[in-house]
Amino acid sequence: MASALTDKLSRLVKELRGQARITESNVSDMLREVRMALLEADVALPVVRDFIARVKEKALGEEVLGSLQPGQVLVGIVNRELAATMGEGISDINLAAQPPAVILMAGLQGAGKTTTTGKLAKHLIEKRKKKVLTVSGDVYRPAAIEQLKTVTAQAGAEWFPSTSDQKPVDIGLAALDYAKKHFFDVLLVDTAGRLAIDEALMLEIKQLHAALNPVETLFVVDAMQGQDAVNTAKAFKDALPLTGIILTKTDGDSRGGAALSVRQITGAPIKFAGTSEKLDGLEVFDAERHAGRVLG
Ligand code: GDP
Repeated sequence: MASALTDKLSRLVKELRGQARITESNVSDMLREVRMALLEADVALPVVRDFIARVKEKALGEEVLGSLQPGQVLVGIVNRELAATMGEGISDINLAAQPPAVILMAGLQGAGKTTTTGKLAKHLIEKRKKKVLTVSGDVYRPAAIEQLKTVTAQAGAEWFPSTSDQKPVDIGLAALDYAKKHFFDVLLVDTAGRLAIDEALMLEIKQLHAALNPVETLFVVDAMQGQDAVNTAKAFKDALPLTGIILTKTDGDSRGGAALSVRQITGAPIKFAGTSEKLDGLEVFDAERHAGRVLG
């Protein structure tokens, strides 16, 4: 894991190793580098502060100061804390519900909800051998409904039609009814997004949630979103009991600090990462690998 650290950080580790005495100020120097690396990766400031405070507490608790290789010990703590903050173990989609298991997709417009709905449909069909129905509650953008139809066909799932003159809750309930009658295992519900958070949108998705009682409410967020990810995550968390996060566009050139922020703000596990525009571009989220990337 040490190879994932910034050059600066590795240099500091070497310096620390060479020193006879380790002082609290050495440790502070290292933590300052970690802080910079996190900010450069676009982790939100309050999240960085919390993180550094936790690492410092652990470092002093684990007697970094007295250890023979304090630099390495500290690096270990930073990496473990990063991976632990971003998630522990693998958490696949929960389908433990009376079928059909409803999965509600939430997030801002452009985050990748519709694409990810197609990806999830494909994953559930191929990896979990489920019969999957999709439906779009995005009554504001007929193009979004058509887009879902296309990706659903590509995924080999069935699409439930909806039109822009319907109410999202009515669409959801009709799809649920159809899914029950035709013995679907899973109903994936794509929802409307906006470019920015908006009261009416939150109210609408809350109503959908209440009507459909989903077993999974997944927050889809763009890994490139950077600092704004915190506000978006907070708004969705306040509106909905989120059960998981899907981090999209991890193939982009961002360092993916949004993962840390979003995970910390929502407390929900990051279940999957989007790795391309294609429908097979979905991977189980690997917190350790992502931790290395965030540190740069
Ligand atoms: P929605 O508005 O939230 O439904 O977002 P879309 O599903 O329409 O996705 C917005 C854009 O992001 C589209 O051009 C997608 O192809 C692209 N996209 C979604 N997920 C990924 C991903 O994991 N990687 C890449 N590179 N592009 C993605």
